Amino acid sequence: MTPDDRLTAAIAANLADVRTQIAAAARQVGRTPDAITLVAVSKTQPIEAIVAAYAAGQRDFGENRLEELWPKVREAERRGLADIRWHMIGTIQSRKTGDAVGPLTLIHSVDRTKIAARLSRDALAAGHVMEILLEVNVSGEASKHGFTPATVLDEAAAVLALPGIRVRGLMTMAPFVDDPEAARPVFRALRLLRDELALRYPTAAWDSLSMGMSNDFPVAIAEGATLVRIGTAIFGARV
Ligand SMILES: *Cc1c(COP(=O)(O)O)cnc(C)c1O
Repeated sequence: MTPDDRLTAAIAANLADVRTQIAAAARQVGRTPDAITLVAVSKTQPIEAIVAAYAAGQRDFGENRLEELWPKVREAERRGLADIRWHMIGTIQSRKTGDAVGPLTLIHSVDRTKIAARLSRDALAAGHVMEILLEVNVSGEASKHGFTPATVLDEAAAVLALPGIRVRGLMTMAPFVDDPEAARPVFRALRLLRDELALRYPTAAWDSLSMGMSNDFPVAIAEGATLVRIGTAIFGARV
């Protein structure tokens, strides 16, 4: 086996394992596994890792930096990986919103109204409609980005009125803790907040909840995640 073969085999095995765990977590709470999209977080990983995951059937990939995302999009296309669905999951600087407009399936990380407004302006100028999630800092940790639960309720009407963007739901990052059960209240709070928004603003879709990473995704699925963002459990430790 060449090193490339070993990488491909390891990633395929990890992906199979993660998919099995997703399906088990879904069935345990009576959900269909198809309702959960696995976003493979390929940040800092080389293109070969993306190629390997693609060969194992993975199509949704997430990146957290626009400067890394677009070169990978171009390189994947160059290699004939034409049907990848790209997700932007990282913070977008307010001066860089124009760089987030393009062929992305979903932007998970719109973390304040100012970013939504600038993205709207830039999307409109480019003739795109961008699908977005509002990132909420449920845990209140100072290190995390996002709307507070109170501001998202206050400002959702203004965000929903913006042209060029389409709100699909909410995203959160749980605190990093050893025991994934400790993240459950954060995931549950995000779901309840989504339910409240859907009641108040029934014209938007609110069908997406992006929550759960390598260490806590089964708990997030039990609490209603429709998108899980998983890096390490698929690709191994980041370099
Ligand atoms: C890196 C990252 C992930 C994936 O984290 P893992 O612990 O490697 O699964 C998920 N979401 C966001 C926003 C990230 O930046």
